Amino acid sequence: MATCHVAFLPFMAYGHMIPMADMAVLFASRGLQTTIVTTSSMAHHFTKSIKKTINYTHQIALHIIDFKPGFPPGIANLDQDTSNEHLSRLLEAIRTLQEPFEQFVQRSQPNCIVTDICLNLREIFKDFLNLFIQVAEAEEKSYGVIVNGFYELEPEYVRHYREVMKRKAWHIGPVSLCSTIRTEDKLERGKKSSIDEHECLKWLESKPPSSVLYVSFGTIVKVTSSQLHEIAMGLEACDVNFIWVIRNDQEKLIPEGFEAKMQAKNKGLVIKGWAPQVMILGHESVGGFVTHCGWNSMLEGVTCGVAMVAWPVMAEQFYNAKLVTDVLRIGVSIGYVEWSADSTCEGVSREAIVRAVARVMGPEEGDKMRVRAQELKEKANTAVVKGGSSYKDLTTFIEDIKGFKSES
Ligand code: UDP
Repeated sequence: MATCHVAFLPFMAYGHMIPMADMAVLFASRGLQTTIVTTSSMAHHFTKSIKKTINYTHQIALHIIDFKPGFPPGIANLDQDTSNEHLSRLLEAIRTLQEPFEQFVQRSQPNCIVTDICLNLREIFKDFLNLFIQVAEAEEKSYGVIVNGFYELEPEYVRHYREVMKRKAWHIGPVSLCSTIRTEDKLERGKKSSIDEHECLKWLESKPPSSVLYVSFGTIVKVTSSQLHEIAMGLEACDVNFIWVIRNDQEKLIPEGFEAKMQAKNKGLVIKGWAPQVMILGHESVGGFVTHCGWNSMLEGVTCGVAMVAWPVMAEQFYNAKLVTDVLRIGVSIGYVEWSADSTCEGVSREAIVRAVARVMGPEEGDKMRVRAQELKEKANTAVVKGGSSYKDLTTFIEDIKGFKSES
């Protein structure tokens, strides 16, 4: 039978490109021919993933398609500017990719296209119902859904999806586990780290096991200056070591002298820009994670066996937080109970932060959560190796799409 070819069309946001690049590496590791289709300004983000597949039967190929002329260069992705206006323009620009993408499909005839439901959005994240409807429509039109998760993480939901909703679904993750086997692969996922990895590792190694709290709100959530201030005060008051990731443009918004003071006390590191998140979470000195509960971060937390302070802000992060706190019981919740109108993170006092962190890092509740999280970590590692549930699901998927081409 001819080689099975899968084309990936990622959405231009880091929380979407990273897992899709990992997925392409995973597929290539199973002997599939893979092509990542993206714009010229996003192409360099996939270089590392492509290099990882150099010794495979088929190295990941890259195919460039571009927006129609007329869009400003800054429209390229959802990174620094995450405003609704910017997202609307980006979606408008993405629609102009349809024609060149169809030409690629005509020419290359892949067996399967793996794309991102967000590429189907017509407008943006104003309210969840609207978003959910658009996502459901995209799902209805698709042949099936590839999930970056694993059966043992949420067995009831997997069964519900397949047996009640009657959707074809393949749970093949956590994909980060498959593409970050070597330490160097953990360093540069998405962007180059803003901190020297040796400096970061040296700091982590100077701390006792499970004593460090990692704090990050991902790539899209906006944290207000007053909230940044409360987080700083909360972290200072907490009886734990911490690594806190803030965006480059937030440096001037944290209290003056805070970083130097934390460094002098050897209590905290502030990373301004991009953190090597998977490397940090995977270090044995890290025991807790304050997270906005983006699916990737949540899954990376699970995969590393840490307890979490679940602090959802927007979109499906609230569901993910419930999974962490109520279903898996590996974290406590903090912050809003529903999506704030402007998707910003604010309104949580330093006292509330101190209380939540004490629960998650402490020996009473925290250690029990970490035991459960460690069990999930083992299950995740088992799922992705030969014979595991995710490995088998990917085998099923490959068999399915091979047949799909011969039937079409
Ligand atoms: N990430 C990272 N370093 C950072 C910020 C984010 O490596 O400083 C990665 C993180 O490991 C995750 C992704 O970016 O894989 C963020 O995706 P998630 O779904 O958690 O959140 P989003 O940014 O989409 O809200």
